[in-house]
Amino acid sequence: MTVIKPHLATAEAERPAAAPTSVGLPDIEVAAARITGKVERTPLVGSPSLSRLCGQPVHLKLETRQPIGAFKLRGAMNAVLALGEAQRRRGLVTASTGNHGRAVAYTARQLGLGATICMSALVPANKVEAIRSLGARVRIVGRSQDDAQAEVERLVVADGLTPIPPFDDPDVVAGQGTIGLELIEDLPSLACVLVPLSGGGLAAGIAVAVKALRPSARIIGVSMERGAAMAAAIAAGRPVAVVEEETLADSLGGGIGVANQVTFALCRDLLDGVVLLSEAEIAAGIRHAAREEGEIVEGAGAVGIAALLAGKANPQGPTAIIVSGRNIDDTVHRRIVSGANA
Ligand SMILES: *Cc1c(COP(=O)(O)O)cnc(C)c1O
Repeated sequence: MTVIKPHLATAEAERPAAAPTSVGLPDIEVAAARITGKVERTPLVGSPSLSRLCGQPVHLKLETRQPIGAFKLRGAMNAVLALGEAQRRRGLVTASTGNHGRAVAYTARQLGLGATICMSALVPANKVEAIRSLGARVRIVGRSQDDAQAEVERLVVADGLTPIPPFDDPDVVAGQGTIGLELIEDLPSLACVLVPLSGGGLAAGIAVAVKALRPSARIIGVSMERGAAMAAAIAAGRPVAVVEEETLADSLGGGIGVANQVTFALCRDLLDGVVLLSEAEIAAGIRHAAREEGEIVEGAGAVGIAALLAGKANPQGPTAIIVSGRNIDDTVHRRIVSGANA
């Protein structure tokens, strides 16, 4: 049977029916032009203490300085600005462990659009409140990212909302990749990047940009031992389901999707290695950030620092650590900084 597609005269035609599944440097350059002025151009600052420890120049890319306290604004802003007018007007919907939901809510408010954020009951209360205070509708569903995602799919069909995926989307990956362009601008001699790794949007975007502009640079993903979905997928050679566990790096929780279209192949092909960390090692990263760098950093944001402290990444040459977010519960942060490991 031949299916003849109706001609789409409006905004629907702006996105190809078969979405592209890969991302290249030109996509990231387009994203950078689109989001300039709407997201922060974050600083890359030297870390004397980590440089001493490693015997290499170590720099911190402070995505904690984004208005929502995490890099996810880059991908969400780029994906929403890439939509046609009709898709935007229907309202945005996403599932999120927190920072992506916050990014979509912030983007919606900036652009005058509606947003519904679906999340599991495991998401910390401070993150839920932050999203509510940005004016988005919050729906709490189930106990896993998969339950929240099922609700997104239901709302897309039932109410016609426009989904903004947290990582497995070319426009989201291209938005996160703008970090890679800034790294090369600020540190042309870049030799190694340590990147927090969950669904892989951040790592894939940075890897595409950095490997295109400086092929000799190594990109190392860093995850927690408790439920490292991308590491398990790369080891298995295909996306696999992992059990979601509580971790200090809560923003790294959740699977990569068994039907992953974009980030799995890019991470498999472009990452030079993946490091896994214990909860105590992640806690040490959060403590170091607070005591030595004067930065409030959440568990997921501290894993690059933690990998260096644990001696699990031995970079050669100028190194950049992506400090991806700062959204940690105050009480948890105080407890960790005063010496606790969980
Ligand atoms: C989402 C997130 C990550 C991981 O990004 P992925 O694109 O899912 O790999 C890392 N750190 C923070 C703070 C995050 O919010």
